[in-house]
Amino acid sequence: MENTENARTLNFIEEIVEEDLRNGKNDGRIQTRFPPEPNGYIHIGHAKAICLDFGIARNYNGKCNLRFDDTNPVTEDVEYVDAIKEDIQWLGFQWAGEARYASDYFDQLFEWALLLVRKGKAYVDECSAEEISAHRGVPTQAGKESAYRNRPVEENLDLFMRMKNGEFPDGSKVLRAKIDMTSPNMHMRDPVLYRIKHAHHHRTGDKWCVYPMYDWAHGQSDYIEGITHSLCTLEFEVHRPLYDWCLDQIADGDYRPRQIEFARLNLNYTIMSKRKMLQLVNEGYVSSWDDPRMPTICGLRRRGYTPESILNFVETVGIAKRENIIEFTLLEHLVREDLNKKALRVMVVSNPVKVVLENYPEGQVEMMEAENNPEDESVGTRKIPFSRELFIERDDFLEDPPKKFFRLSPGNEVRLKNGYIIKCTGVDKDEQTGEIRQINCTYDPTTRSGLEGANRKVKATIHWVSANHALDVEVRLYERLFMVPDPDDVEEGKDWKSNLNPDSLKVIVAKAEPGLANAKPGEKYQFQRTGYFCVDTDSKPGKIIFNRTVTLKDDWAKILKQ
Ligand code: ATP
Ligand code: MG
Repeated sequence: MENTENARTLNFIEEIVEEDLRNGKNDGRIQTRFPPEPNGYIHIGHAKAICLDFGIARNYNGKCNLRFDDTNPVTEDVEYVDAIKEDIQWLGFQWAGEARYASDYFDQLFEWALLLVRKGKAYVDECSAEEISAHRGVPTQAGKESAYRNRPVEENLDLFMRMKNGEFPDGSKVLRAKIDMTSPNMHMRDPVLYRIKHAHHHRTGDKWCVYPMYDWAHGQSDYIEGITHSLCTLEFEVHRPLYDWCLDQIADGDYRPRQIEFARLNLNYTIMSKRKMLQLVNEGYVSSWDDPRMPTICGLRRRGYTPESILNFVETVGIAKRENIIEFTLLEHLVREDLNKKALRVMVVSNPVKVVLENYPEGQVEMMEAENNPEDESVGTRKIPFSRELFIERDDFLEDPPKKFFRLSPGNEVRLKNGYIIKCTGVDKDEQTGEIRQINCTYDPTTRSGLEGANRKVKATIHWVSANHALDVEVRLYERLFMVPDPDDVEEGKDWKSNLNPDSLKVIVAKAEPGLANAKPGEKYQFQRTGYFCVDTDSKPGKIIFNRTVTLKDDWAKILKQ
């Protein structure tokens, strides 16, 4: 992990970029791309790739393209395209020019495939997927050549054209590169370049019956766009020889995009596979892709995460070549740090019990002045009504307190935040259940801010709202979506979904200060002594809804102190 204060050392990718710039490589041009597959919403892991791709371009006066890798028509959708764009912009980045699509290059890719066939470097194979996989063998043993490997060029050309024209059913034939069935790198054992798919594509419609594989589309698309540094996650390291081989077949001149791999972001208590996220949505474990428990960018946004907290997280984690697992508590620590500066302070009582101030005049209302954010004077103060009947947290009172309990108890004093010091004189209980229905207190009129008793010290300060003025708000209390650090770690026969936390959402109605009636979706608040909360996108006047972003309890800060 890197320290991000001021000057940090360059990561290994920045070192490569600077070296290339020093050597005048690519005429000093820096061009990167972010290549999402539009088959789901992007998540916090993608944020790392986005920060890297767009960040390198931004820092080195280069450009970053957004290119949708839409080579698989079956799983892709425009809904995802639009959402991915929105999320990238929300993080604060803008791609160069229009968004691009691998499908824009299907004609060119097909031409290049024909070139490969003509050079005798590709052939049409009629083996089934199972046979191809069996023939490929294992890394320590040479694979077996397909019986179709040495077809004449003319025959290959004819068959490939007919594949394109839709003459053959799905799965009956593929186009394979003719490289080396003995290579220790399995990706070089005659990889499949094209497969038949009679499928409608969200951009090219029904034009194509063959679709290129990732390995044929990606490097070539990089080449077409003049990408200089093609940054991707480590699992593509083994594809790199193939990436380079494909480019060498079609490129003339010296220019080649260079693929560089970095370690993906892994977070504990989180899954980051789009396939699994889709399952959670489709099977109703969460309400949507932007459910505030999802690790998606839109989920984090709805939860109350800020772009700054996510960027800071990615920066803190750093870029390396070795995989590791990052603590979720670090992300939570960083959003707290950011919200501490930005969130307006308010008082909300989540588990209310009534307090009656016996010596406070009935019908009187005083407007108490409260700071909106002690970290930021520019946001000023607000007025909160104070009256004879209040709500406080049930937890802030104990009838029979242990020694170290300094909050309200019979005979004991506490300060009401922005208000008076009160003293408990007794309680009214439900005779049947014994539950406390009301706490009776007296207040000390000299202890209001500005009066002589304002600085009188008591051991605890608690929050409150005036009972008659309180606003009922819905509060959604989120816990982790998974109960275990590694959700994929399950016993035989069990599903990763068995690790879902059944209590990841609890909905309560809380008593809030009345000014929150005007809270707008997306606004961030600190409920004092409780946590950070964000107004939900479904919130509206008359029904205000808050999502808990994080509690105030900082587990990461504790780890740092150890
Ligand atoms: P999934 O496996 O869930 O479908 P993916 O990696 O296939 O995800 P893509 O849309 O292909 O998703 O990813 C776009 C870019 O984001 C790729 O360059 C990929 O390497 C990068 N990326 C994806 N997941 C992570 C991650 N966890 N950390 C860093 N980069 C990631
Ligand atoms: Mg992918």
